[in-house]
Amino acid sequence: MSVLDKEELRLRVDADFNRIVELLSKKVALKSVSAQGIAGQHMRVSAQFVADELKQRGIDAKVVQSQNPDGTPGAFEVVGSRIVDPNAPTVLLYAHHDVQPVPDPSAWDTDPFEATEIDGRLYGRGATDDGGGIAIHSGALHALGDDLKVNIKVFIEGEEEMGSPSFIPFVEAHRDEFAADVIIVADSGNWSADIPSLTTSLRGNTDLDVTVKALEHPVHSGQFGGPILDANTLSCMLISSMYASDGSLNIPGLEGGDPVGGLQRDLDEEDVRADSSVVDSYRFAGTGSLASRLWTKPSISVIGFDAHPVEGSFNVIANETRFRLSVRTAPTQRPEDAARAVTDFLTEHAPFGSEVSVETLDTGMGWSMDPNAEATKDALEAMREAFGTDAVNKGEGGSIPFIPELQRIFPNAQVLVTGPEDPKGNAHSPNESIDLKSLKNNVITEALILEKLSR
Ligand SMILES: [Zn+2]
Repeated sequence: MSVLDKEELRLRVDADFNRIVELLSKKVALKSVSAQGIAGQHMRVSAQFVADELKQRGIDAKVVQSQNPDGTPGAFEVVGSRIVDPNAPTVLLYAHHDVQPVPDPSAWDTDPFEATEIDGRLYGRGATDDGGGIAIHSGALHALGDDLKVNIKVFIEGEEEMGSPSFIPFVEAHRDEFAADVIIVADSGNWSADIPSLTTSLRGNTDLDVTVKALEHPVHSGQFGGPILDANTLSCMLISSMYASDGSLNIPGLEGGDPVGGLQRDLDEEDVRADSSVVDSYRFAGTGSLASRLWTKPSISVIGFDAHPVEGSFNVIANETRFRLSVRTAPTQRPEDAARAVTDFLTEHAPFGSEVSVETLDTGMGWSMDPNAEATKDALEAMREAFGTDAVNKGEGGSIPFIPELQRIFPNAQVLVTGPEDPKGNAHSPNESIDLKSLKNNVITEALILEKLSR
């Protein structure tokens, strides 16, 4: 059997590229906004479009409607497979066909649902997130055609932008249909349009509600102020006790590490400053690379605080206060363990003997790629060949909840998180777009990955 090299695959993708862009344009026009009803007719049409497209790429694809956790009809999912050799490795290709809503079309420079090419980028809602993922899978399968040497399974989800409410029961119900050696999740992106990336880690999260009680009831601040500190002040002392003077967290048992797979390139401080809109005089907190602080070390933010509003406030000492912490956890630490570490710390550091109680709310596991897996090496090599430059590992400070769930359900599968996005893509925002040169290289990359995995 001949080995397809990058030159041959590039020729094939070049010849197919108009079709790929046309497919993406048709997909944008379908307005598959899941927020307008995951079980709506427009979502069925979108799923059927994707299934028909995959059928033309040799995949035995069909539309299946999932069930919501409450038993009502759920999202239209596309599932399918192509088994070329029962002894060959199996790869599950993931993308999602639903898109973010467009609350304000006037914020766009083009019609959000009419794909428009400007300066090498294709603009439209879902052009990158995640129509780009569907285009990559389609293009890679077309390029390999009958030379495909791995088994393919496909799951194109219909409710990712709604937080995937029926994802877990659906995947568990289709466990055998989805079981694979490697899972390619084409729903993230590259360092830039020119520099490819694997997404190597995602932080987990847990929310905690903390109550600080000093008094049974409020008292007059003139009569008792001095020996008695108000619950707001005590809460602020408690919050600040979690931090060292350099702004890094000081909590035993709360884990943090260095970027997974090593740091090839740190984030640019000026970019992060601009993107986050910090005021000019602000100094970043924490130590170590900026990448580690944003991707692989924990962080805690106060996202809610019950205190009397300034307007209408009067001279009393607040007896009790409640605040909510959002804890972002290191990719490999169980969020329950992180919640326990924070809870222990807070109760042990109750200022001035105040009563501190902590309630753990939702938790979500993070995720970390295996940097030494064969599939990881294949993917990095494929990226280098397709883009002509070394890939740069990239973490995510936030979560993509279904990835740890996939990994939990298929613990032995190697998950490769790739995708069509780049920092100029404006996913979820007005003027969403995809870089077409980058899309072509992403298609070649995925075809090369599938080719390499067969060896
Ligand atoms: Zn997405």
